Amino acid sequence: MDIKKLLLATNNSGKVDEMRAILVHLNLLLLTPADLGLDLQVREDGETYAENASLKAIAFAEASGLTSLADDSGLEVDVLGGQPGLHSHRFAPWPEATDSDRRIYLLKKLQDKVRPWLAHFHASVALVQPGGTVRVANGECAGEIIPEERGTNGFGYDPIFFFPSLGHTMAELSMQEKNRLSHRASALRNAEGIISELLGI
Ligand code: IMP
Repeated sequence: MDIKKLLLATNNSGKVDEMRAILVHLNLLLLTPADLGLDLQVREDGETYAENASLKAIAFAEASGLTSLADDSGLEVDVLGGQPGLHSHRFAPWPEATDSDRRIYLLKKLQDKVRPWLAHFHASVALVQPGGTVRVANGECAGEIIPEERGTNGFGYDPIFFFPSLGHTMAELSMQEKNRLSHRASALRNAEGIISELLGI
């Protein structure tokens, strides 16, 4: 039988690893832009996570001719009115900022605020076939930000995103554990029906 192809439309290798692990049981050929020699920078100027994920999925589907899956995600901290939110990846006012810079910048903004610094991650996943209608699924994951980094797994804000019920940060979890709990895992699980429908599996 023909193995079905799905393009994971992201250049973030941390996300690719997570998506591969979460979708492995679907028995798809999961491709990345690098596998296809596709170097596409999509402007994420939508007003919602769903819009940004859709912009990315459409651009990659048109460029590759393949069914494409894109996500857009962010961290929302209650006491900061939901910041950094949609701007999580650019949340530090200098252009070459690293994940570590962004964590330090966030902790600076929080230092005078009363704890606990409740927060959640949000992820929207968009799926589209070339020329088709975009379908979206969402997921969330709740925790709190802590003032010191713990753990070295994952990426982004993981070392300061703490689960009080587990006593661990996201960066202290194995990939398997993160993929049970994370916003991206939840959005992808909610998207499985859409993937099956679009690819006829
Ligand atoms: P985007 O979805 O590529 O626009 O980027 C979202 C940004 O949110 C990432 O660059 C990270 O800073 C943050 N983020 C999203 N998901 C996660 C996660 O699972 N762990 C840690 N940070 C995340």
